[in-house]
Amino acid sequence: MERTDHVVRIAVDLNRCQGYAQCAFLAPEIFVMHGEEALLYNPDADEAQRDKLAQAAAACPVQAILVDAVGAGAEAVSGDR
Ligand code: SF4
Repeated sequence: MERTDHVVRIAVDLNRCQGYAQCAFLAPEIFVMHGEEALLYNPDADEAQRDKLAQAAAACPVQAILVDAVGAGAEAVSGDR
């Protein structure tokens, strides 16, 4: 399995995501709301963003954010490239 040192893989389960935008508020460099419900995010965040990411993941009311998504089941996770 390929590993990159300074990239944190993220996945958001967009089937769960309700567009609460907590993540976009806490980690705006990574999560951006597009319109009212669509969430855009950078699936390869920088290691330096890890703390913010953890906060965003913890704040998501529906636990839709997976940090270190390497090996996560592809069918459970949308938003992959
Ligand atoms: S906090 Fe969770 S539900 Fe809200 S926009 Fe982010 S991923 Fe979606």
